[in-house]
Amino acid sequence: MADHSKVPCRILLIRPRDISRDRWDSIVQTLMQFSDRNVILTGIVDPAPTPDILIVADMDGIPIVSRIEDIPPDSFTHLAMDDSLPDIPSPAGTPWPRISFSIISLLAEQVASKTQFMAIFNRYRAFAQSLTNLIPLERAIPYESLICQSLRTLLSASAVAYCESRTRTRLITIRTSDPENLFKEDDSFPLTESLRAILTAKTGYFDDLDPEKTGIAHLPLTASNRVVVFKLIQGASSTIPFLLIFPPPFPPNNPIPETEFQNALELSAPVLQTSHALFAHRLVLKRKAEHDSLTKILNRDSLDAFLNFSYQNARANHDSLSVLMLDIDHFKQVNDTYGHGVGDSVLVDVTGAIGKALRSGDGFGRYGGEEFVVILPGLGKARAVQIAERIRNSVKKLVHPVAGKITLSIGIATFPEDVSRETDLIPLADRMMYEAKHGGRDRVHAR
Ligand code: GH3
Ligand code: MG
Ligand code: MG
Repeated sequence: MADHSKVPCRILLIRPRDISRDRWDSIVQTLMQFSDRNVILTGIVDPAPTPDILIVADMDGIPIVSRIEDIPPDSFTHLAMDDSLPDIPSPAGTPWPRISFSIISLLAEQVASKTQFMAIFNRYRAFAQSLTNLIPLERAIPYESLICQSLRTLLSASAVAYCESRTRTRLITIRTSDPENLFKEDDSFPLTESLRAILTAKTGYFDDLDPEKTGIAHLPLTASNRVVVFKLIQGASSTIPFLLIFPPPFPPNNPIPETEFQNALELSAPVLQTSHALFAHRLVLKRKAEHDSLTKILNRDSLDAFLNFSYQNARANHDSLSVLMLDIDHFKQVNDTYGHGVGDSVLVDVTGAIGKALRSGDGFGRYGGEEFVVILPGLGKARAVQIAERIRNSVKKLVHPVAGKITLSIGIATFPEDVSRETDLIPLADRMMYEAKHGGRDRVHAR
């Protein structure tokens, strides 16, 4: 156990003769912000001591004095000074205990590294916590590529790759980022052949990603070389694998201890996982909010949104847009004869049959009870009639195990052939659908 009762070392820092202004300033500044229960900076002596020592900084209650003898004797326990300086006697007559200035300067470097490291870590944590806000669900950008982009920016990493893992087989698949280009930015990066092979093959094994085996552990730490921290962030139960590849954020001659970095990544893994889970949950909620619970196709709100989007597009691009209104024939009879459960199952089957006849970019939703709307971007009336016939035949082929054969009546409205306003499309398609009913049902009608 650490000894917490230890009396802190209270240091009076004396400026060495041969030190640049910048270096001295940075050491003093770092140590002034640094507080530790073992080391406290209580004063500085600046400029470099002459026979008349001059204290120019007042710290921690030490008054500004001109001679070392005038400092209250209990205000410091050690003098941090250059090895070349002679001892300075204390009031007791014995020399003050001294600490080599080089140790103090090393400490300052470590403190600076740690501050820098914490800044990166906090940015990382902030990123993980706000992950769900960063991801615009409306945009069809793959989730992992967004994370890669954001991580890259936030962590100032030179490259980030997302990989998929199957922990049992230990196989990882690099899903995003272009491995060939991962290191293009820095030609001096000595990518080992084994690592390049894994990255370019897009698959590999956890074992192969071991820093020892990939040679990453043996990269020389020079100012021009980039350091790679190559980690898969893993939680206790599941894995969110990322390759994090960093330029050196720390002084090259004083890298942050590996264990601390490891700890930080482990700390942030649960946060990232939570965000991951939240994101997945949001996707589920979004799906629920946009889709009809029985048939799983778009609900009325989403149909309206889809129609508006398609209409704006059609107008802007001088393109056509057709809307179909579909209504099941004599559906009430199905309910009355077989019950609502069978009616529901017919709705699901009919949905499937209609869906089969559509292209992937078409809009398809449940408008009301047994009425559906199909939105066909880019299609004029002639093509829309063809699609409507295809739908009608697809449903007609259907034989429901209880209700038997089902037919549809379909009405069509087309922009700009029939109407010039978005709000006129569905009402006209509806009127055309009723024309189809009056014409004898199981048919398509357009103006
Ligand atoms: P038409 O050929 O004129 O369209 O005749 P129809 O019997 O289909 O008449 P209408 O369209 O007016 O009937 C709609 C029926 O759809 C009424 C209602 O019982 C039924 N319905 C509406 N929503 C649901 C639903 O979610 N499930 C079930 N099982 N039936 C529904
Ligand atoms: Mg109806
Ligand atoms: Mg009907």
